[in-house]
This record gives sequence, structure tokens and C-alpha cells, in this order.
Amino acid sequence: MKRLIALLRQRCPVCLRGQVFTTLFGMHTHCPVCGVKFERETGYFLNSMFVGYAAGFLILAPTAIWLAWMNVSILVFSLAILAETALLTPLIFRYARLIWMHADQALDPRRPEV
Ligand SMILES: [Zn+2]
Repeated sequence: MKRLIALLRQRCPVCLRGQVFTTLFGMHTHCPVCGVKFERETGYFLNSMFVGYAAGFLILAPTAIWLAWMNVSILVFSLAILAETALLTPLIFRYARLIWMHADQALDPRRPEV
């Protein structure tokens, strides 16, 4: 439960307190509280792309199905999907990385470095 709250609040997967993000897409390299390095190894965040892809699909598919059902023009369909993608990209980017980091920490724990 603590981990879920930390994940939703976008906190460090190790200490569950330090902020992960500095800007919309910018991350701390190390946790400001416990000092753990977020990018555990080179290419570490590559796996978060799978999380992001799945989340994007699950979010966009209902909209696409609804728009197809409403029989809108291809222009309206494309603009709606593009707008939704643009609006949700920061959210999906952040939570894809957070879900990946928290899942990795839960399966292969490491300790704070300070
Ligand atoms: Zn931390």
C-alpha cells in the first residue's frame, strides 16, 4: 500500500519519499532523499517503454473504438487521437517510468545509498 501511494505521488522506489521528477520530462539522476541512482544501468528505462506502450494502448483504444462507433470522419478521428496522445504523453511517460522502477524495486530490491 505504501508503495502504491509513493508510486501515485511519483516518489523514489527505494525510500518512497524522494521526488523523482524535476520538470515535466526531467528526472533527478539520484534520489534527493536517499541518494540511490534512478537509472540502475545503461538502458534501464528501455523497459518502461513497454509499460508506456501498453498504457497508451489501453487508454487510446476505448477512445478509438468509441470514435469508430460514432462513425466520425477520418479527420476528426485522427485529430482526436492526436490530441489525446499529446495531452497524455507526459502522464504516460512519467507513470511508465515509475511503474517500471517500482516493479523492479519490488522484484529485485536494493537499499538506499546514504
Ligand atoms: Zn530515495
